[in-house]
Amino acid sequence: MKILYIHPYAFWANSHLLLNFLRISNYLNSKQQELKIPIEENYIDLRHENLPKFIPKMIDHYRIALKKLLNEIYNEFPFDLVAISCYTSFNYLNSVEVAFLIKRNFPKTIIVIGGVHPTIVPDDFQIGNIPRVFFNEYSKNETPFDFLIREEGEIPFFKLIKGLSEKTINSRINMNQPCIVLKSEMVMNLDEIPLINFNLYKKYSDSINKLYIDFSRGCIFRCNYCGTSGTTQCYKKVRIKSVERCINEIEIIKNSPWISIDQIHITDMFFLPKRSKREMFFKELKKLKRKYPKKSLKIIIYDRIEFCTLQNLQNYKELDIIPHFGLDFSSESMLFKMGKFHGKDRDTIDRSIKKYLKKTRELIIESNRINSKIIFYYMIGTPGEDHSTLEQGKDFFLEKRYDSQSLVEKFNVNLDFSKYMAFIGSQLYNNAEEKFGSRIFYKNWWKLFDENQHIYGLLVRPSKDMSLITCLDISYNYMREIIKYQINRKNNFYSFHLILFWKSILNTILELKEKLN
Ligand code: SF4
Repeated sequence: MKILYIHPYAFWANSHLLLNFLRISNYLNSKQQELKIPIEENYIDLRHENLPKFIPKMIDHYRIALKKLLNEIYNEFPFDLVAISCYTSFNYLNSVEVAFLIKRNFPKTIIVIGGVHPTIVPDDFQIGNIPRVFFNEYSKNETPFDFLIREEGEIPFFKLIKGLSEKTINSRINMNQPCIVLKSEMVMNLDEIPLINFNLYKKYSDSINKLYIDFSRGCIFRCNYCGTSGTTQCYKKVRIKSVERCINEIEIIKNSPWISIDQIHITDMFFLPKRSKREMFFKELKKLKRKYPKKSLKIIIYDRIEFCTLQNLQNYKELDIIPHFGLDFSSESMLFKMGKFHGKDRDTIDRSIKKYLKKTRELIIESNRINSKIIFYYMIGTPGEDHSTLEQGKDFFLEKRYDSQSLVEKFNVNLDFSKYMAFIGSQLYNNAEEKFGSRIFYKNWWKLFDENQHIYGLLVRPSKDMSLITCLDISYNYMREIIKYQINRKNNFYSFHLILFWKSILNTILELKEKLN
């Protein structure tokens, strides 16, 4: 069986090299003995194939070029099955287009879809829910998808290939039948999946500039703007790989001469929560650094503020690890509304929030003292915002509490700003309108075929007491103030370009919002 893996175009975040297909392919290959037929695999990444832009005014050119590309691949590699990774909602429209085009030109091909978006909204791949924009070209009574995998891919994909080869699973008779949703199954012990093998991606070695790798899955928290607060089981169930295997995978990256990146991102929802495991990881990584003194590798991790000790910062610095913390916001009432903490009553939660903000200050002060780089994600415009939360958030950074200076005047503070995006799959997406009087202006923004698609999901009124425009105005002014103080401190995390970038994003949001009025 010849399997073609396709990573489709996304309207946002097109440079990430994700391990999704590698894990699936590595697992499948590790089970080769259980398969009755040999498998061959190929991979194409449509983000790196120099295709015309996937936007309305280029769609005819896009279809011609994509068909040509697929024909060329088919001549060399006549694929039987195509697996498409609709990793985020930004991939959705292109996934549908690619699948329809394949079914039209290679009708016997079986198409499998998986990823975060199909996990959360499997119905989007069924007849009746395919967006209208496709009906000029394809039939509205058909879906090109034969099988859909929800949650993790390794086990269901292996079982599908096995079932198809043994004829215990049959594909649909035609495209008028519903897409078959496969039974979800998680990998419970991450040490049982094979060590990463990157060979499938080798042909894109020149395009690899960011590499994302996972050492754990699932999170114990349930922040209500995050997918963990929805119904997806694999986000909730925490599983962690042994330190030995984490280090082995880093060594594989160091040992692959064609992978020339100098930075990897460990995508774990938060980095090794257990203190003893962290210590062991630091110890083993130090050994690895000594073994490969010439191959330096920056490691980006996502840590939780409460779990990071001040001593960890020293280790991060020595090991070239840059921790990113989801601070998310700096107001006590907003952190409560975001569901960052859970507890038996409001007092317990409030105490946790106070400790959290105190710890944030300590991490900032300590990182400045030892000169190590730490980064905080900071989100504006989240449902629940009102004048008082914005005032509190601003005071945290700008109130003069340190020898008549504010936190951002006295210390380097690296804030990675973002605007709340209405991602489907979280509690907030479902209940913000009822709870806070928010309004998500485009609830199905991923179905809009528009080159500004990535902006529509940002159009969210935070609460009944605050319009989107007021929220953006206030947030922009205080972001600008913070950035100016930091530029004065010569913190090279920021530049004036960032102020202009934010101004242009906010202007586009406002323009689209005006169109709505
Ligand atoms: S935002 Fe981060 S810490 Fe919160 S639930 Fe999601 S993954 Fe966990």
